[in-house]
Amino acid sequence: MGKDLLKNFVDFIGMDTSGRNESKKIIVIIRIMIISYILYFTANMIVCNVVFENPKVLLFYGSFLLLFIALFAMSYSYKTSVTLWSFCFSTIIWVVAIVHSFGWNIGVQHFLMVLLILYFFSGYKKYVHKIVFAVTICALRITLFYLYQDKVPVWKLSGLEESILQVLNTITIFWCISVISFVFSKDSQELEGKLIEYNSQLQQQANTDTLTGLFNRRKAMDYMNAMVEKMSNDKGFCVCICDIDFFKKVNDNYGHDFGDLVLKKIAEIFREEMQGKNLAARWGGEEFLLLFPECNGDEAYVVIEQIRRRIKETAMQKDDLSIHVTMTFGLAEYDFFNGLGSTLKEADEKLYIGKEKGRDTIIF
Ligand code: GH3
Ligand code: MG
Ligand code: MG
Repeated sequence: MGKDLLKNFVDFIGMDTSGRNESKKIIVIIRIMIISYILYFTANMIVCNVVFENPKVLLFYGSFLLLFIALFAMSYSYKTSVTLWSFCFSTIIWVVAIVHSFGWNIGVQHFLMVLLILYFFSGYKKYVHKIVFAVTICALRITLFYLYQDKVPVWKLSGLEESILQVLNTITIFWCISVISFVFSKDSQELEGKLIEYNSQLQQQANTDTLTGLFNRRKAMDYMNAMVEKMSNDKGFCVCICDIDFFKKVNDNYGHDFGDLVLKKIAEIFREEMQGKNLAARWGGEEFLLLFPECNGDEAYVVIEQIRRRIKETAMQKDDLSIHVTMTFGLAEYDFFNGLGSTLKEADEKLYIGKEKGRDTIIF
């Protein structure tokens, strides 16, 4: 029952009357503002009734109460921009009237800030309009300050009365600004979160080989270039380019899908064996690149030999089919003198030599 009532109320507040180019959110916020102001005027009437026992004060607040009830009704039949302007205009009128009647000290002038934030968030206005609006509000506030700062108000309040109204104003202003900020920041935060996630997905896709899940050639090159850039002269690295032996025959004899399965299985072995800082990437087709940062050739050779043996011993299986493949490796230490391109070329040439020498070997 309570839930239904709340849902009906939320639906009622959320009813859309905005034009095609206008955001529905803004009309909802204006309605929440109007309801807040209606409650605020009611609270003021109660406070003033106790403090002043003056029917004129009640009439004064009562007229604003009626004005905002009319605005609320209006929000269901007019375009959002019309309601927004009427809301801003009405707020300026009552702020001026209250400053005039009760003086500067109860802080009602800060309601102008609420207008400023509302207007800036309202989305469909040009920036130049927003700046003009901000300057106008600022000028109005300064004018009010000079006109009313030292002026005796129409209804003089005691210190305690001023404090009560100051607290009431502060609470209402904070509430209004919080509502506006919450609604708009919620959207932008959600959007930002989605964008960050999407961006990292895109980046991952751009860096990863889809079949094996290893880094692709582009990422491997970026990685090595970055490494070369920040490398100190005493610590080099090793690269190894390796290639599956007679892989074309695997495809020809057992089909392309089985060939893919072999590539995935080999990538799995690389992932398991290339621990820590070491990195494996798919260099292209059935070629892979192994990178050993802060390693000399002898240290890398030990790891590669372990990989070579594991690949040779691993049965590549699918259904009844089970085969063994081998790989040939060309290993080169980073050439400080000639740079990365030369190092990769050396590794490639050594791989070629390995193929010439009968495959299933490491050339260093
Ligand atoms: P070698 O020992 O001299 O390296 O002989 P090879 O047969 O492995 O060399 P070759 O370069 O002639 O053949 C490479 C084959 O790898 C040809 C190509 O169809 C296959 N290949 C490249 N990329 C893929 C892939 O993503 N999936 C599959 N299944 N095969 C691929
Ligand atoms: Mg090849
Ligand atoms: Mg090959």
